[in-house]
Amino acid sequence: MTSWRYAVSTDVGLVRELNEDSVFADGRLAIVADGMGGHAAGEIASAIAIDQMRTNFLDRGDIEDFVRAVEAANRAIIADADTNPERLGMGTTVVSVGLVATENGTLPVVVNVGDSRAYQLRDGALRQLTADHSVAEEWVRQGRLTADEAAVHPRRHQLTRTLGIETNVRPDAFPVAANAGDRLLLCSDGLSNELTADVIAELASAPHTLEESVALLVAQANRHGGRDNISAVLIEFDVVSAQPPANLLDDLASPAFASARPQQAGRPLKRGSSFFTWRSGLFVVALLGAIASIYVVFYWYAKSSYFLGSYRSSPASAAYVAIYEGQPGGLLWFKPTLVVITPYIFSDLTVADRKLVNADIVEPSAAAALIHAKNLDDHGRQVHTGTTTTTTTVTSTTVAKPKG
Ligand code: MG
Repeated sequence: MTSWRYAVSTDVGLVRELNEDSVFADGRLAIVADGMGGHAAGEIASAIAIDQMRTNFLDRGDIEDFVRAVEAANRAIIADADTNPERLGMGTTVVSVGLVATENGTLPVVVNVGDSRAYQLRDGALRQLTADHSVAEEWVRQGRLTADEAAVHPRRHQLTRTLGIETNVRPDAFPVAANAGDRLLLCSDGLSNELTADVIAELASAPHTLEESVALLVAQANRHGGRDNISAVLIEFDVVSAQPPANLLDDLASPAFASARPQQAGRPLKRGSSFFTWRSGLFVVALLGAIASIYVVFYWYAKSSYFLGSYRSSPASAAYVAIYEGQPGGLLWFKPTLVVITPYIFSDLTVADRKLVNADIVEPSAAAALIHAKNLDDHGRQVHTGTTTTTTTVTSTTVAKPKG
């Protein structure tokens, strides 16, 4: 059976008033969750995530069970916000490593949502296992930015996936090929933003003990500014009893192929005896495939974005900034749907920002739209409380400022 030792540290940092990160580790499961949300709800979201994952993680479960534990955490955060309106919009990242059962033994598997990271350390060298779910990193994957550009891009902190925002969250989940003596570091962005990979590699590796390493990592992140909450869970494998099976790695690397194996299209063709049956069968299959593809492309395009708007529950109530899924104005028969009513009151925004809300600006995810809404609300508060200039001056200043 795979076994590990672990050390854990979490720190509020030097700037934030509250620590919204939550951490957990035992002999089978380790988790870092980085909570976010107004009205001090972030630490509630990250605590719910850890509580739910601990409860739903199965000792003899497989990788799908592990993913389901993350999905259960997502649903629990959404349900909590539904019954506690002051926590509306709270969310959390999660990065976790758990031991799942296989025929040969127990296998370490990493799951993640958001920009908290998992690194693997071997003989003093470091490799990042997780991909950040941020706007800048998505653009790197699409070839629109280089990794170096993404590292300093203003939208590198804007998340495209978090727990607590959308009902259908999709965690990344993959097994790790580990050796005895390897270490895995789970950390929040308060650590990875402050320290270079070289520094992390040095501090997280032997000859430092696990306890020394997590203390050094947190102390060094604070020395570099400590601008966010800092969390680290470091594990070291004593025994690794199972390695990822090749087919599991293949399936995870290319899930699109798993549902489109060529023999499925070929099977009905074998039954046809004549050339014309074969040809007409192929034509029908190709036609249906083309129609399905067009539908999928339209559906994907219609649902792939989010935008801000205003929402009031009745004509007499206040309007709130709301997040809609879909294309502004709709696309064919796909109409936008309301997904989140934020706690931000529309009339609290500056006049210019209210125009931005109504400008049909498309965001890549609900989380990105939520952060945009929060930025507009913050801006409204700053303008309303932090300046003595006239409304006219404030408005024209804001209009002149380019978005983003
Ligand atoms: Mg953070």
